[in-house]
Amino acid sequence: MSSVYFDVGNKNPKIILDEQSYRVFKKFENKTVWLCSQYFGTRTDRCKSKLTTTGRTIIVSADPHNHAIIPKRDKYYQNMQCQNVTIIREGQNNCQS
Ligand SMILES: [Zn+2]
Repeated sequence: MSSVYFDVGNKNPKIILDEQSYRVFKKFENKTVWLCSQYFGTRTDRCKSKLTTTGRTIIVSADPHNHAIIPKRDKYYQNMQCQNVTIIREGQNNCQS
């Protein structure tokens, strides 16, 4: 289990994972797709890092961030909810040898 932060008190929900923030891109019946905040607001150099959430499971795309972590103040997390989730990272081999 790992923990992530959810911004739930906002009409544009966010998730913070690995200190990177993601915003809702598309909601489906049983899953939600989130894109890195650096995808929005720019037409070039869009970050392709993506999350898919289904319940308490988060699938992280294999696409690496194309930018450094953007530092956030502690205050940023004040209104966020910490949740324990299961994180599945695509493109990584987690098998035990
Ligand atoms: Zn990114």
